[in-house]
This record gives sequence, C-alpha cells and structure tokens, in this order.
Amino acid sequence: MNNTLNIVWFRQDLRLEDNPALTKAAENYARILPIYILDDENAESWSMGEASRWWLHKSLESLNKSLDENLHFFIGKADEIIPDLIEKTKATGVYWNRCYEPWRINRDKKIKTALLNNNIKVRSFNGSLLFEPPNIKKQDDTPYKVFTPFYKKGCLENGPLPRDLLVCPSKLIFEKNIESKKLSELKLLPLINWHHNIENTWSPGEKGAQHRLNNFLKTGIKNYKIGRNRPDKEFISRLSAHLHFGELSPHQAWFRVKELRQSSDTKDSIEHFLSELGWREFSNNLLYYWQNLPEINLQKKFDRFPWLDNPKSLECWQRGMTGYPIVDAGMRQLWKTGYMHNRVRMVTGSFLVKNLMLDWRHGERWFWDTLLDADLANNSASWQWIAGCGADAAPYFRIFNPIIQGEKFDPNGDYVREYIPELSQIPTKFIHKPWEAPEDILLQVGIILDKDYPLPIVDLKLSRERALSAFKGLSENN
Ligand SMILES: Cc1cc2nc3c(=O)[nH]c(=O)nc-3n(C[C@H](O)[C@H](O)[C@H](O)COP(=O)(O)OP(=O)(O)OC[C@H]3O[C@@H](n4cnc5c(N)ncnc54)[C@H](O)[C@@H]3O)c2cc1C
Repeated sequence: MNNTLNIVWFRQDLRLEDNPALTKAAENYARILPIYILDDENAESWSMGEASRWWLHKSLESLNKSLDENLHFFIGKADEIIPDLIEKTKATGVYWNRCYEPWRINRDKKIKTALLNNNIKVRSFNGSLLFEPPNIKKQDDTPYKVFTPFYKKGCLENGPLPRDLLVCPSKLIFEKNIESKKLSELKLLPLINWHHNIENTWSPGEKGAQHRLNNFLKTGIKNYKIGRNRPDKEFISRLSAHLHFGELSPHQAWFRVKELRQSSDTKDSIEHFLSELGWREFSNNLLYYWQNLPEINLQKKFDRFPWLDNPKSLECWQRGMTGYPIVDAGMRQLWKTGYMHNRVRMVTGSFLVKNLMLDWRHGERWFWDTLLDADLANNSASWQWIAGCGADAAPYFRIFNPIIQGEKFDPNGDYVREYIPELSQIPTKFIHKPWEAPEDILLQVGIILDKDYPLPIVDLKLSRERALSAFKGLSENN
C-alpha cells in the first residue's frame, strides 16, 4: 500500500478522462483527496454569473457521482483552504490543471510558492488548452495579435503538437472522512425558479459532454462550415459550456474530429471546426498576454469613444424588446436557454455597440451573467472583436444589418418564430421587418405593433450613420 496522499484540486477540468492532474496524482496507487473550492473572494468582480452557477452545480453533482461521492467541497479563499487542508490531512502533494484567467493565475502562483516553501509537492498540468500561451509566440518573442498567423503559423506549424489523450486510472483510492461542505451548501442553484427550460435542454457533466460530441459527429459536422451560420438549424456542436467547465478537454474534441474519415465534402467542415477550437485558443492567448482584456479597450483610441448612456435602450436589448426580430429572438433564446447561437451573438452584439452605441462592457456583463458557457477569455475577446476595439477586430465600419442578417441566416423565420411566439403567424416576407407588413395582414394574424410587439427602438440608417461619425471622430483625433 502506497502511503502518499495527494490532493487533486478540480477547477475547470470537471472530468475523469484525459485529466492529467488526476491521472498523475493517482499514479502508483497513491491515495487521493479530490476537492472543489468555490472561491468567489479571489474572483472578485469576475465571480461566476447565475447561469454558470447552475451549470457548475449540475456538473459537480455529476463529477461527485463518478468519484463515488468522494469529492470534497469548500467555500472561501483557496490560498487559505489548501494550506489548512494540508495541515489537517498531512497530504504531501497538490495536483491541479492550469487555468488562464488572470485572477486564477495570480492566486495559483501565490499558492504554489507558499506550498513549495513548506516542502509540499505541487504539480500543475495542461488540461484545458491545445496550445498553451507561453509556447506560442512570434519569432520576435512577442505574442500574436492576429488570428490566422496565430493559428496557422504559431500553433499548427511551429507549436508543440497537442499532447496525447490520457486514460483515467482504473483504480482510484480515496482519502475519506475529511470535514467539508455539502454541495448544496455552495448555494449555486438560483433561488427563483427561472431555470426550468435550461434544466430540460442541457445535460452538464462528462457523460453529457461525450453524448453531445457523439451526436455532433454523427449529424452536425458534415454541414458545419456553411450550416454553422444558421441559427434555425442544428449544425453546431453546442459544446462550449462542456469545454468551459472542462467536462470535455479540447484534446478529446480535437482528436475525435481529426479521426473522422475526410471525404471531399466533409474536409472543409472538419478544418473549420478545428479552427473554431483555434479561436478558443486565440482568446485564451489574448487574455494571457493582455490581462485587462475584460475591462480595457485593446485599441487605446476607443477610450475616447462617445458611448451613450441610455439605460432604457439597454433594458430593451436585454429583454429582447428592440423591435428587430433577429436581435430579440437571440436575446430571448439567451434568457430562456442560457445559450445563444454564434451568428446571433454577433448580430445582437453589433446592434448594442453600433446601433444603440452602448459600451461593449454592458453586453459583456450581461452575457457573463446569462450565458451557461460564460468564459472570460472567449467573452471578452469576442466583445472587443464586435466593438472593433480588440485585437484582429471586425472593422468598426462593418455594421451588421439585422434585417439582412435575419433574411440570410434565418430565411424561413423559424428561429424568430421559436423565440418570439407573438410573431409566429406573420408571413415569412415580413418576419424580419414586421413594421412593413400591411395593416390587413397584421390584423389577420392578430398583432398590434407597439402593443403586442415593439416598433424598432432605433432607425437603422440613422443609428448607423451616428456610429460611423463617432468612429470617424476617433480617427481624426489621432
Ligand atoms: C459577443 C460574443 C460573446 C461570446 N461569448 C462567449 C463565451 O462567453 N463563451 C464561449 O465559449 N464562447 C463565446 N463566444 C463564442 C461563440 O459564440 C461560442 O463559443 C459558440 O457560439 C458556442 O457554440 P458551439 O459550442 O455550438 O460552437 P461551435 O461552433 O460548435 O464551436 C466549437 C467550439 O469552438 C469554440 N468557439 C467557437 N467559436 C468561437 C469564437 N468565436 N471564439 C472563441 N471560441 C469559439 C467554442 O469553445 C465552441 O464550443 C462569444 C461570441 C460572441 C460574438
């Protein structure tokens, strides 16, 4: 019997398979103490939003089951809880997989130093990224700011290959009877029952993640390249929350997709899906090198942008009451299901920052609280991209027109009809612009605009010109 006791600190790696920290900690039949710490104190303003907390609760429940109810829960500052736990258990090692949010990096460094000073073994591993930021730099040793060279040159051509998959040890020996909290004491579930729909839509946990990946490989991926833009279809993987919480490693997704037999009609879709995983890597890379990414414009000139202060239009946007059906359907999909399709995230985001001219940080915060897949790197990099102030951002003058976007990507209006039932009877011709429907048609389908569904809260042409002129002002001031 091996007398070593290792603490396995689960964080954003809530799985047993392909989990380097777990596999290494349990090597040679060492005893393990699996723990989870809800550390809102160190997270400060970036502690998890409500939707993420729901997912986390379910995911921990599932992980605890897989660990035969041996996961120990704690609440508080990890830098105090871990030393305390070592004192109590006489554990000799602490194992974790690395996380990349700035607050976690700073905290983990502090913990590592303190433990090493006390002769405790600390081992950290790469469990969550295919290409870790310190390994991916340009030839001049600076980080990449543009996606394509980052992915193609930095990762695929010159980066170390993604590590091989690991198998969960066949036998785990647990340390028992350590005083800890019950999962319910973490109080992750919402007090008000808004999560009924979410409960029916998602299956958090490692099994749920594998199931979703398998389904996607069977049905979605072959049409991914083109189909991924259609919110009315199911050609996307919906793996984002599973990846964020580490119920599935990007390595598992990467290798499973690479194993698919590439025929001439699936090749592009496979490559495209892998490159989307690449965007996840890119966002993490940006956050790693620009730790203020969630708060500060990467392009300094945007610090002078004359954002409007209009709580009423922000609320219309949040509630899906802007009068533009594709925008409202997206915002209601988010509220109802904790998810929004990527194409619609771009349309709703552009509408907020360009047509309403509200600061991107309002959108970022709302998504942080309402998305099940809320991810500091992906969310802040994407909002900066949409606002035009980020690295490799969409040019500010490219403003999505919600009518054209709706007609192109939801051509039959199925997506709008699903999330805006009051418009469900409107003929397809008017589904993305109901205010253009003749009176008699509106009467026939029983809808009174401005009463049953709002009229547009801004004029697209005027608001577009207003945004462009504000942007032009920035360039002139340069
Ligand atoms: C304004 C805005 C905010 C966003 N906020 C988040 C967020 O908080 N969390 C999040 O995971 N994604 C975010 N995204 C990126 C993207 O919309 C989601 O990752 C995607 O919609 C998730 O659906 P999926 O899993 O079906 O994606 P798929 O299309 O199946 O892609 C597979 C995986 O690749 C990654 N991925 C795909 N697109 C992107 C992207 N543009 N950037 C980074 N990674 C990507 C995700 O991990 C995703 O699960 C945001 C995008 C925008 C425009």
